[in-house]
Amino acid sequence: MFNNLSEKLDKAFHVLKGHGKITEVNVADTLKEVRRALLDADVNFKTAKDFTTKVKEKAIGQDVLTTLQPGQLLVKIVKDELTELMGGDVSGVNLSGNPTVILMSGLQGSGKTTFSGKLANFLKTKKNKNPLLVACDVYRPAAINQLHIVGDQIGVEVYSELANNNPVEISVNAIKYAKEKGYNVVIVDTAGRLAVDEEMMTEIANVHKAIQPLETLFVVDAMTGQDAVNTAKAFNERLNFDGVILTKLDGDTRGGAAISIKSVVNKPIKFVGTGEKMDAIDVFYPSRMAERILG
Ligand code: GDP
Repeated sequence: MFNNLSEKLDKAFHVLKGHGKITEVNVADTLKEVRRALLDADVNFKTAKDFTTKVKEKAIGQDVLTTLQPGQLLVKIVKDELTELMGGDVSGVNLSGNPTVILMSGLQGSGKTTFSGKLANFLKTKKNKNPLLVACDVYRPAAINQLHIVGDQIGVEVYSELANNNPVEISVNAIKYAKEKGYNVVIVDTAGRLAVDEEMMTEIANVHKAIQPLETLFVVDAMTGQDAVNTAKAFNERLNFDGVILTKLDGDTRGGAAISIKSVVNKPIKFVGTGEKMDAIDVFYPSRMAERILG
């Protein structure tokens, strides 16, 4: 649906060429098209509706007499508004702590462990940092093992305590350890569940309280559409997180989740995951995402 939105808008506006200004009447059908496309990309109804209203306000009255391609004018307005909706400027992570403590949150399977590794690798190779990874999933030994494998791959130490089943203690001990060893970033990977549940939320809220991270990041699978919004809401209510990581953008998704999450929790999307490998990480650029959505 989104694939040819630019083209469709262009066609719809072709008739306008040389006919003066964009009016409420001649823009209505086109905006319906935009709204339908947003809904198809899993943007929630209210966001899509607010969005098209805003675009309409911006578009009406624009002079198309002198514009060679009136459709392109509307595409530009749509693109600018989408960019604005997803956060405007690029925002990275705050690394001013000593050490900087970063807490990863999210459901099981969202890509937390993989992203923890990617972020450690990114900070090590691109930002000249000395990160420590911390395994706090006390329920799944396989998860701890997975983080060790990731750490080995990128040459980053992983702190874990196999005999301890208290994630608060492990994370507090890990920060102490990091200070002793001179690590300047501590990335704490936590246990997820398949769905939001009270036990998980209490546990991560306790870890959050104990370690007071400079950055709490919420990791979400971009393929999960509307569910992504509800999960983001639930985690944000408990953790008031600082940013969102959208994973699996290499998959077959237009990325509508980016728009919905941003407009519902109003937190910036900081990075995206674009594959299973350790270098498949990108800083989130709202304007690039708007282009991807528009096709
Ligand atoms: P966790 O349970 O939240 O720690 O999730 P994992 O890090 O174990 O990731 C779950 C699955 O998703 C694994 O098979 C990962 O390889 C895969 N995965 C993670 N991030 C990405 C991504 O950006 N793209 C793709 N295609 N797969 C990913």
